[in-house]
Amino acid sequence: VLDISDRKFAEEELMQINKKLEIALEEQKELQRQKDDFIGIASHELKTPVTSIKAYTQVLAKILNQKGDVREASMMQKMDAQLNRLTSLIGDLLDVTKMNSGRLQFNDAHFNFLDMLNFVIEDLQRTTERHTLIQNFENIGSVFADQERIGQVLTNLISNAIKYSPGATEINISCSVQGDEVVVCVEDHGIGIPEDKLNRVFEQFYRVSGNMQHTFPGLGLGLYISSEIIKREGGRLWANSVEGKGSTFCFSLPLSR
Ligand code: ADP
Repeated sequence: VLDISDRKFAEEELMQINKKLEIALEEQKELQRQKDDFIGIASHELKTPVTSIKAYTQVLAKILNQKGDVREASMMQKMDAQLNRLTSLIGDLLDVTKMNSGRLQFNDAHFNFLDMLNFVIEDLQRTTERHTLIQNFENIGSVFADQERIGQVLTNLISNAIKYSPGATEINISCSVQGDEVVVCVEDHGIGIPEDKLNRVFEQFYRVSGNMQHTFPGLGLGLYISSEIIKREGGRLWANSVEGKGSTFCFSLPLSR
């Protein structure tokens, strides 16, 4: 049993500890803010020169094509493809900083869902010779969401399916109505994800270690951004995977909005 002075002492100690905890938390928040600010400023600064290099590359590729310098023109096109990758990495970094500070804009409107799926798939089919993107779509009318952002999610999932299945030839993309939701799934037959890591892949900057991960380029942001977008649009994003066999990533969106 504590006497009054002991109790007072214990209470004061507790208050001190609480205060220290509060200060540590504030410091951590400030560090996070500084990190986000740095990433935001750095990626914004990187964006301008990359955009201008890209414009010059495209003009040069056109001139070389017109002159009939096929080899040089094809080199320029490869440079352009690498610049696309760089632009998309910078875009991801900018999105994350905007998301963390609640500034990511959404422009929701009605759009034709299958048109959006076909557009993205056609675009990505051009980036791979090895894989065939196989479609299995149920007819869906229009969906109310931000078309560009949903296209970004689909692009992330299909790009990952291509990237993480270097030995496979098929990727299956399905779209169906389930209750009052539309569900899109992207299934690959690639390296898969260990069971204990599956939930972590949606975390910011998380990449599965081992598994020759270093041979696959990336920042570990695509799935984090995708899950935040889908959450904001009232849906869910989830995954099933068997290590060494392949993965299926699905997202849902409400149909009734
Ligand atoms: P990134 O691919 O740039 O690393 P993501 O956020 O898209 O970032 O994915 C996070 C991690 O989840 C990846 O690093 C990878 O380890 C794993 N992953 C994502 N998609 C797949 C997939 N289709 N097959 C196997 N692993 C995947």
